[in-house]
Amino acid sequence: MTRYIDVGDVQELVHRLGAAPMMAEMASFIREDFLRWNQFQKSPRTANHSPLGVIELMPTSDARHYAFKYVNGHPRNPSHGLPTVMAFGVLADVATGYPLLLSELTVTTAMRTAATSALAAQVLARPDCRSMALIGNGAQSEFQAMAFMSMLGITELRLFDVDPAATDKLERNLRALAPVGAAREPVQIIRADSVAQAVRGADIVTTVTADKTRATILTPEMIEPGMHINGVGGDCPGKTELDRRILEQAYQGHTRVFAEYLPQTRIEGELQQMDADFPATELWQVLAGQVPGRLSPQEVTLFDSVGFALEDFSALRYLLHVSQAQGVGSELSLVPTLQDPKNLFGVLASRPSALRRAA
Ligand code: NAD
Repeated sequence: MTRYIDVGDVQELVHRLGAAPMMAEMASFIREDFLRWNQFQKSPRTANHSPLGVIELMPTSDARHYAFKYVNGHPRNPSHGLPTVMAFGVLADVATGYPLLLSELTVTTAMRTAATSALAAQVLARPDCRSMALIGNGAQSEFQAMAFMSMLGITELRLFDVDPAATDKLERNLRALAPVGAAREPVQIIRADSVAQAVRGADIVTTVTADKTRATILTPEMIEPGMHINGVGGDCPGKTELDRRILEQAYQGHTRVFAEYLPQTRIEGELQQMDADFPATELWQVLAGQVPGRLSPQEVTLFDSVGFALEDFSALRYLLHVSQAQGVGSELSLVPTLQDPKNLFGVLASRPSALRRAA
């Protein structure tokens, strides 16, 4: 049987364990897998584009497990009642190909993205960071805020979105939170009237906007020495958030750029604006101690996040572990159970259970 985790199961897990501790534990699974980087078969994701969005498949495997995620990105979805990003995924046994887990990944993607952002910031941002600007206050934003509050000790959040209702929603959700993780006091929330106002004086800047265009949310005048930029929303060809002159600062040695998996980020991330040989470092190399993280308090660091299949592999591995430990989730008859594996036709001879017939 295949384990099945639906949205209600993830709600139950979050209710029992807390979103912030789950993201911190997910981050440690992601870290563990990034440290085994060379054991994975990796490729950029397969993307099918349409005028309104993109649908992507994200596979990876090691010697034991294979995982894939189905995910979309449709920035206009909220205007007709659907999230911009929706996802589900599978973890399978490499030795037999048997699907071990089928899981919701919409909520989980928000958690794994925030967990990866915070994991990167732990090695790239200044250790004394306390304030973060959060540009784009949609579905991902609470998760980003919570991960940075609990894993980096962020105590001040400066919010901006072109849609004030999105900021109202984020502010309401954040005010309802108890202090989490490393943050011992309630977070201070500042609403800004512009991106520039939100960013001024912030230690970390997270951009998590959705628009299928070459946007320039951040321009060079906004960037201050020592900032860490967590660029999350530019994750698709033709969809970026940063003025390319911010990246050009790397040529002067003031800025360094970090990515998950360069062959994919050069297609999808802010790096799509730069030449193929533009200098950038993969995050796993910093986590493994092969390349130093932040070099000085003045350096500007950019994590050009696009979301890589290995993070979903880790998230699925974590969900399987935690769902078994907590007894949450159900079993699904996704593949026929056969007494004679060659007699697939025999499945059709026996009738489904009375319960299923009634349904
Ligand atoms: P969402 O549609 O729920 O929220 C996006 C918000 O951005 C909206 O509130 C919108 O009003 C705001 N926005 C758009 N243009 C803006 C601008 N110029 N200035 C300020 N705000 C602006 O989407 P979401 O689910 O929160 O996702 C946000 C982005 O993150 C998407 O582009 C998505 O593709 C990306 N994403 C990346 C990863 C990753 O791993 N890097 C993972 C998940 C989502």
